[in-house]
Amino acid sequence: MSRVAIVGAGAVGATTAHDLAAAGVDVTLFEREPIDWDGTATPSRTPADAASARAAGVVYDAYAEDIDAALGARSLERFRAFDDTRGFRFHDCPYAICVREGDTERAEATRRAAERMRSHGRPVETVAPDTFGDWFPTLVADDLAVTAVADNAGWADTADYVAAMVGEARAAGVTVRDETPVTLSDATTLTVADESRSFDAVVVAAGAHTARLCEAAGVDLAAVPYRVQALTTCVDTGGPNVAATERTDAATTGRTAPAASEPHPGPMWYDATAGTYARPHPEGLLVGDGTVPKPADPAEWRREADDWFQTDALAVARERLHGSVQSTTDAWAGVCTATPDGDPLLGRVTEGLYVATGWQGHGFMRSPAHAELLATRVAADINDDPDPPATLDGVLAAFDPTRFPADVTVEVREGMLVEERDPQT
Ligand SMILES: Cc1cc2nc3c(=O)[nH]c(=O)nc-3n(C[C@H](O)[C@H](O)[C@H](O)COP(=O)(O)OP(=O)(O)OC[C@H]3O[C@@H](n4cnc5c(N)ncnc54)[C@H](O)[C@@H]3O)c2cc1C
Repeated sequence: MSRVAIVGAGAVGATTAHDLAAAGVDVTLFEREPIDWDGTATPSRTPADAASARAAGVVYDAYAEDIDAALGARSLERFRAFDDTRGFRFHDCPYAICVREGDTERAEATRRAAERMRSHGRPVETVAPDTFGDWFPTLVADDLAVTAVADNAGWADTADYVAAMVGEARAAGVTVRDETPVTLSDATTLTVADESRSFDAVVVAAGAHTARLCEAAGVDLAAVPYRVQALTTCVDTGGPNVAATERTDAATTGRTAPAASEPHPGPMWYDATAGTYARPHPEGLLVGDGTVPKPADPAEWRREADDWFQTDALAVARERLHGSVQSTTDAWAGVCTATPDGDPLLGRVTEGLYVATGWQGHGFMRSPAHAELLATRVAADINDDPDPPATLDGVLAAFDPTRFPADVTVEVREGMLVEERDPQT
């Protein structure tokens, strides 16, 4: 049996490990942080610094590029099939892109992007603001110029996904070595606890650490880490998402209403003009996208959210939602990875060495499909498969990790920009 090492038990590494083991490959998954691999701890115990533990868990297939749309749709299929596995839950919920009046270029870009999403068979409707307001009465719509509503979407707790997927990987035969940081000495050799271990293939899915790990083996990757932020809050809609006793308490004492008892009853939304998104969360609402557009050190970065982000994100939520948005209940930062063209680095970099990184803030939602592709590629290579699946090379060519010249510069940009999905702007 061929032996493959995967470095990193985030959403991508854990899913790749599972899929390879399910294909009959002998897999060892190395993770430097502790993991609850049975997915039984509450809250889930997964690598705390990993982007996968810090992500918002927004999932959709509303992409204007054909490959992204197909991979987004495949990921949604897998998330739904994985629902109720080891405590993981997937919550179907529409995703709405909103552009404000006066933001004319972005409004046009959004209309065109929605048209392209539809041309790839994605269920995305461009909706007039008054109709949008009728559909989603918890959202303020009278300042909007354009909205596009994607129906194939939802949200999930990302740490629960990792814990459940590591559990499934282990059940499929993967050897999980958590609390085991590794380094790369050459393409197929890892240093593990001061010992060299060789494999038939190595997959580095180490998130923001991927480029640095590969550098030690003489491989340069065009991937730059940067900080992104999110927070949770609760919203008193006057409706059933805040417990009646809490509202009474607030009314009689004048104190701010405490935590909501259930997720905010609206869609997920991205206010493209403000650059802020939100989704329902067990405490009420999760609000995000405090992108800090400069490189971050993957080892030394500020885990707490910045004050400016919390102030700005709550201000946008207050403008976009009816009801009363309360103060922050939790706020944090995580590290994402940018590439020169915003597309991931996924596939083989040299004989025996594969990488998976550079998701530009969209790595969780596409992890099931990206990992599936990568696992299929690795299995075909190590088994010398004379007839690998026809789609494999075509799709992976778009994400070839060696596609950039050595001296390319990487500009860190907000990952959700509508303009990036629209080649006409
Ligand atoms: C605030 C925030 C919000 C986000 N929201 C969304 C969202 O709504 N939707 C979405 O799709 N994406 C979102 N993202 C992006 C998403 O989190 C990432 O794209 C995705 O989780 C990347 O997964 P990964 O497995 O590639 O990397 P990671 O989750 O970072 O996993 C890498 C793993 O490698 C391990 N590792 C590193 N070095 C070593 C080593 N030397 N030895 C062993 N192990 C090592 C790390 O400990 C880590 O566990 C968000 C990110 C942040 C920070």
